[in-house]
Amino acid sequence: MMIIMRTDASPEQIQGVIERVEMNGLRVHLSTGAERTVIGAIGDGRPVAQDQFLHLPGVDRVVPISRPYKLASREFIPENSVIDIGQGIKVGSEQLLLIAGPCSVESRGQLLETARAVHEAGANALRGGAYKPRTSPYSFQGMGEAGLEILAEAREITGMPIVSEVMTPELVPLVAQYVDVLQVGARNMQNYALLHAVGESQMPVLLKRGLMATVDELLMAAEYILSHGNRKVMLCERGIRTFESSTRNTTDINAIPVLKSQTHLPVILDPSHSTGYWNYVTPIARAAVAAGVDGLIIEVHPHPEQAFSDGGQSLKPERYAELVCQVKAIARAIGRDVDAECTPDG
Ligand code: PEP
Ligand code: MN
Repeated sequence: MMIIMRTDASPEQIQGVIERVEMNGLRVHLSTGAERTVIGAIGDGRPVAQDQFLHLPGVDRVVPISRPYKLASREFIPENSVIDIGQGIKVGSEQLLLIAGPCSVESRGQLLETARAVHEAGANALRGGAYKPRTSPYSFQGMGEAGLEILAEAREITGMPIVSEVMTPELVPLVAQYVDVLQVGARNMQNYALLHAVGESQMPVLLKRGLMATVDELLMAAEYILSHGNRKVMLCERGIRTFESSTRNTTDINAIPVLKSQTHLPVILDPSHSTGYWNYVTPIARAAVAAGVDGLIIEVHPHPEQAFSDGGQSLKPERYAELVCQVKAIARAIGRDVDAECTPDG
């Protein structure tokens, strides 16, 4: 439930309510808005008498949260969450977050070349997998810590924050030392031990939707992270499995406005994995911006034909630069923007 305090509630009154919530064995999640404080009180489903909070000093009203996810819901936090991902970059506001880079870090030369190129094109964060979840155990599994070191070097050079996947709870402390955003991959969306660990880390998290997960299941996965007090969660639509086989996955474009209405968390689209073919990436990126995403994560490789993973869906840097300017035009048409220089009107 949400205990909504009066606009003139004093800090002592807020503290009094918090103590009563805790006496009932419920967890407190504070939301301090510009106007008033809302105290989220979340239990494990056992009944708690809500009336007891109604008459405490400073309480305006008590409202149940109707959704199964609580902290992720717009009912609990009506305003968009703006998340600081480091290096001065924020996501969830007017400016779109443009994350780009290779599927995998393959070598120092490949990563630094890509990082410079995408930065020049207008990307404001760098992606690159050092630990790769591959369908086949015989495929390239990533460079591990050596890959993370190269990513950190690319941040030094370009100033872009780094997004990279972590696959196991044990690796969270190590990956967190090098990167700015921990990516939880689609195959791990319901790995609860991992969600727990990234929640505890208090690092920004990019949570990708599972291949077979519903929007509600994605939000419940986000709730695991949020329930550890980590509010820095971004959701990523990356395509779902359908009967359609002409693309690798099917971009659930509906999920963008659906998520934006159900949650305050930023929503990112990954058109590289959601389509699986480089020539569909730009049209779907444009569609996603029109549909209201807060950012795009896109695979870019200087020589896609030589890529160790996902070459067929990777854009060459010059094509990525075109994408950035096209999505900028669309962003501007809907009152948003992209921080990139584009001619003639950028
Ligand atoms: C990736 O980003 O390279 C990746 C493996 O993504 P997903 O988890 O969405 O398949
Ligand atoms: Mn990939």
